[in-house]
Amino acid sequence: AKTAGKRQWRGYHPVLQSGMAERHQLQESLDSSPVETSFLVLYQPIVVLATGEIAGFEALVRWPHSSRGMVLPEQFITLAEESGQIVPLGAWVLGQAAAEAVRWRQRPGPWRPDAQSSAPYVSVNVSPRQFRDDGFLDTVHHTLELSGIEPSSLILELTETVLMRHDDRIRTVMRDLTDLGIRIAIDDFGTGYSSLSYLREFPISVLKIDKSFIDKLGRSPQQYALVEGIAHLADTLGVKVIAEGVENTTQRELLISMGCPLGQGFLFFRPLPSDQAEALILAPDRR
Ligand code: C2E
Ligand code: CA
Ligand code: CA
Ligand code: CA
Repeated sequence: AKTAGKRQWRGYHPVLQSGMAERHQLQESLDSSPVETSFLVLYQPIVVLATGEIAGFEALVRWPHSSRGMVLPEQFITLAEESGQIVPLGAWVLGQAAAEAVRWRQRPGPWRPDAQSSAPYVSVNVSPRQFRDDGFLDTVHHTLELSGIEPSSLILELTETVLMRHDDRIRTVMRDLTDLGIRIAIDDFGTGYSSLSYLREFPISVLKIDKSFIDKLGRSPQQYALVEGIAHLADTLGVKVIAEGVENTTQRELLISMGCPLGQGFLFFRPLPSDQAEALILAPDRR
């Protein structure tokens, strides 16, 4: 009885309480972490599935913490959204990523000097709170000016929750971004209340198919048909598809066979520090 009582005691409210205390501690630690010096951006290559060639990189933030090690975004992005810190943090990530993309363009490659093929783009996650913030467009303008990035080298990844709101301001901001030459991607496609009609309603250039769909590709003919249908429709509408979380060669081959051109995943590369990402961009004769 004593053991059971103890187990119950442990498994019940103290755990809940320690969960809340933990969360509170993390929030405090986050609040006292200056954006400019506390975070790190990694870059995961996005590859042409058929050739392995690098088309671009996704910027993914990390929080190297003195006592917790490398804190992953799952553990702090929600907290940063709740406190509003995601606004300056997201702006900082955008600035870092843009500066990085400018360095990639300066690497010797087929895009210089006569731009036969395009330099690797950088794709940056934008949280709903950040996107809805009144200062977002100014932040983007400022980033373009400060970094000198070609707008065509920048993709902003939005989740479907942003599009679900029937809000004219969202539409206007998206239009302003695409007028600048920036491309917009729908992230985690298929997880929310996805609707292919978003592709008609909004100026979307890229659709990222969520890892959960890619996971089941080889095991379920229905899943294959679904992803193939999405890839075909997107292609018809002139929208590029990127498969997320490609982990094995079966998935890679199935995606190629259904006409999905691009992917990212541990089969190719994990998110890399900027120097390693930059080193991957080679002159054409070294490919
Ligand atoms: P996401 O945008 O869907 O990013 C893809 C996540 O999948 C990344 O996790 C990446 O490391 C992971 N991943 C990529 N390939 C594979 C694979 O083959 N297998 C598996 N198991 N995972 C793979 P990460 O870096 O931990 O980021 C998690 C989420 O945090 C992101 O999901 C994104 O929603 C958010 N996030 C990351 N950086 C930022 C940021 O700068 N701003 C905002 N607002 N959100 C961010
Ligand atoms: Ca993303
Ligand atoms: Ca995603
Ligand atoms: Ca995701």
